[in-house]
Amino acid sequence: MKIKFSGPALPRSGTLVLFLAEGKSLTGLADKADRACKGQIARALAAAAFTGRRDSSLDILAPGGGLGRVVVFGLGDPAKLTSLDVEMLGGAVAGTLQSQKAKAASVAADISPKGLSETDFAALIGSGARLRVYSFNQYKSKKPESAGLAELTIHSSDAAAAGRHYRPLEAVAEGVHFARDLVNEPPNILYPVEFANRTRALTKLGVKVEILTPAQMKRLGMGALLGVAQGSPREARIVIMRWDGGRKGDAPLAFIGKGVTFDTGGISIKPAAGMEDMKGDMGGAACVAGLMMALAKRKAKVNAIGAIGLVENMPDGNAQRPGDVVTSMSGQTIAVLNTDAEGRLVLADVLWYVQQRFKPKFMIDLATLTGAILVALGKEHAGLFSNDDELAQRLSEAGQATGEKVWRMPLAPEYDKIIDHDVADVKNTGGRFAGSITAAQFLQRFVNKLPWVHLDIAGTAMDAPRSAISPSWGSGWGVRLLNRLVARHYE
Ligand code: MN
Ligand code: ZN
Repeated sequence: MKIKFSGPALPRSGTLVLFLAEGKSLTGLADKADRACKGQIARALAAAAFTGRRDSSLDILAPGGGLGRVVVFGLGDPAKLTSLDVEMLGGAVAGTLQSQKAKAASVAADISPKGLSETDFAALIGSGARLRVYSFNQYKSKKPESAGLAELTIHSSDAAAAGRHYRPLEAVAEGVHFARDLVNEPPNILYPVEFANRTRALTKLGVKVEILTPAQMKRLGMGALLGVAQGSPREARIVIMRWDGGRKGDAPLAFIGKGVTFDTGGISIKPAAGMEDMKGDMGGAACVAGLMMALAKRKAKVNAIGAIGLVENMPDGNAQRPGDVVTSMSGQTIAVLNTDAEGRLVLADVLWYVQQRFKPKFMIDLATLTGAILVALGKEHAGLFSNDDELAQRLSEAGQATGEKVWRMPLAPEYDKIIDHDVADVKNTGGRFAGSITAAQFLQRFVNKLPWVHLDIAGTAMDAPRSAISPSWGSGWGVRLLNRLVARHYE
């Protein structure tokens, strides 16, 4: 879909979207449109007793003045609208237009809620619409008849300024779409090498992409990651993506993603029901790739590293066994008691590698790590674990602002003790109780004093509740959250 910004001259045909504050009459461009229709819009609103309540809309057909259709959306109290509310509204507008099979439409966006300028409003409507209009249908042999909403023109008093505000938001939306695509891809198509190849597209944007092979990982001593990979004929990869948009020599921010392109559980095999969803076990890696795209596209003034560990976890004659002991790059030995607790094995080596090589300012890892996080938090919040209160607080705020919400969970020595092992230094599962916490404690053993956050996104990366701006099974969760963190505090 193409989003265009235009000045205050409204079209005289087609579909027009207007906004109405609750209990108020039409103002600005909406009032002008009404007068061009000889008051027909206001009469329709009155006849329908439409008050402008939030999340309500009224569809008015052939109102006169040449227009085919006017859709009026309620704003509620404009003073209460946040940036996220306006994006959601943009998403709702696009969703409604799609369900009406509109190919193109115009929006009168000359609204300035408290704390937001008219330009912000117009740009955020565009952002919400861009996030909403997403489809993943390349495997349908019959393409849907209509190509959907192809063009949205957003009118406000300063088109150029609105366009300038929109561009970085568009960059982020494109990063979200990239992440969604990766999560939605079937696992026979998107395996580690193919995932790594797709990240090469980022080089066009100025991201340096470096890909490590199993031979290189072996030389580095990454026995934890390679142990997971050895049951699959598909080779593992680690991808390091670097965006150097900040000052030369500034320590980079590091984002690390779990990329298990399919998780059968390995020898500790999962039950058949729902196993197909394990194509999404690379949601953390997808988010990191999407974030790197967003940062590069909007030319963020920051140095950032994205590092993803890509493996497939399969049962096989070569697969690792429950009871195996592997040696991680850190030198710590790990007893693999359950081969389905593989994500932490992958992350252990990638975390260690990133911290040794890049000396980052902080590390944030994202992983569809535990089913237990769904028991604790459902699909509304990701679990956040951290050794750094400031970073945790900043992410909480970013979660509220973007709607990608996080909830802090505890770390403590008492939980850490649970994963001690009698033969090896540590075991890869602490049992059923506090399963998400013991997983985080495991990761922490591979982080030195560096500020670090682990986000358990098993509930939010895939099949999460749909919203006006998140319509897809693969949600692309985390791109907007982390982009906000970077933009607010590190540029
Ligand atoms: Mn698993
Ligand atoms: Zn997994």
